[in-house]
Amino acid sequence: MAEFAQRTLVHKKISFLTFCLSLLPMLCEGVQAPAAAAPVTAIRAGKFIDVQAGRVLANQIILVRGMKIEVVGADLAIPDGAKVIDLSKMTVLPGLVDCHTHLADTADSEPLVVLQRTAAETAYRAIPNASVTLLAGFTTVRDVGVYRAFNDVAMRDAIARGIIIGPRMYVAGAYITISEGAGAMTGLAPDIQLPLDLRYGEANSPWEVRQKIRELAHRGADHIKVLSTGAVLTHGSNPKSIEFTPEELRAAVEEAGNFGLRVEAHAHAAEGIKNAIRAGVASIEHATLIDDEGIALAKQHGTYLDMDIYDEECIQSSPNTPADFLQHDRDLGEAQRRNFTKAVRAGVKMTFGTDAGVCPHGINARQFAFMVKYGMTPMQAIQSATVNAADLIGHSELFGSITAGKSADIIAVDGDPLADIRELEHVRFVMKEGKVYKGD
Ligand SMILES: [Zn+2]
Repeated sequence: MAEFAQRTLVHKKISFLTFCLSLLPMLCEGVQAPAAAAPVTAIRAGKFIDVQAGRVLANQIILVRGMKIEVVGADLAIPDGAKVIDLSKMTVLPGLVDCHTHLADTADSEPLVVLQRTAAETAYRAIPNASVTLLAGFTTVRDVGVYRAFNDVAMRDAIARGIIIGPRMYVAGAYITISEGAGAMTGLAPDIQLPLDLRYGEANSPWEVRQKIRELAHRGADHIKVLSTGAVLTHGSNPKSIEFTPEELRAAVEEAGNFGLRVEAHAHAAEGIKNAIRAGVASIEHATLIDDEGIALAKQHGTYLDMDIYDEECIQSSPNTPADFLQHDRDLGEAQRRNFTKAVRAGVKMTFGTDAGVCPHGINARQFAFMVKYGMTPMQAIQSATVNAADLIGHSELFGSITAGKSADIIAVDGDPLADIRELEHVRFVMKEGKVYKGD
């Protein structure tokens, strides 16, 4: 269900092909049968980070056939005709995953600029967001909301079809938010009526929440984003206020579950975080003011915390950050970093999510150094962006480690990121689904 659109596409292609080949070959000129043998690539990895076991192996060979990893080992015979990629002087690790991006939106500090652009202009301007993210080593993202509803669905599908390059995207379709809430386009005069795509996810009762989720599920969302508290980067919002009630949050989780979808909740205030955890969300985004009870609840429920502890640097240093956003943000950045340390020490499940779009796209990896500074080991930080992220998204079978059968999403850096985590800010080689995008 989660890979709805990609799968539907592939499925339609295959069924049409089967139909053609079996019944009406004369009508199907130009429809190609699948290649008999997919090309084989052998990657020599000098150092290999085994994120599942949390260890480093030397001199591994990774055989990639088509889009998939076929086998990994030390003494593999390289098949005749295989293309060899020599990364024997590098450290090889799985493609990184950012669980909190906004690729399909404007990356301006002021959300209201959306009103100065057509939907098409917004979409075209977002294309480089996807490519720079991929080239920075992020082969998958969970994209958690867009002001113009479904721009993210369109971007995901454009990448999957090869029209533009970017990471594999799992998208929310729209923000599910209360009216004038954290995910709404606010700051307008009360007599301005927004078009539907700029207020698509507004809902003000458990049944309205369910209705929106039913529509989003039908229209291709891979997961559901709800806003449990106010926000920093929204006009007229207070990050310490409670927005959706426990009843509305429970309705969201139950309704999303009916369609096989998981829910992530934006939450800064401690009560809003706990309301969302108790309702059964898969992850808390930001988790800024999580208290001890919230940390204990997250542990008990197995809820992931997806804490964007780097972007404070960008909010405070950007000359364009609106004054009311700076006011909301005051003191929150440092509190979030302290609470990150507490959560790591308590052993809460953590993922890597940057809120990319707040900082410029493509510098996602700068957050790793902050995660290490505030309490993670380098291996834990890498695991948060690989195995843990795949688990949260619900596709551990597809990505998150370099393992036989998974998608060939592989990156490499020059040095040793376990000694200097900032090596991940300079990814030299990027392969996604067996195709090399950087460093060949
Ligand atoms: Zn966000």
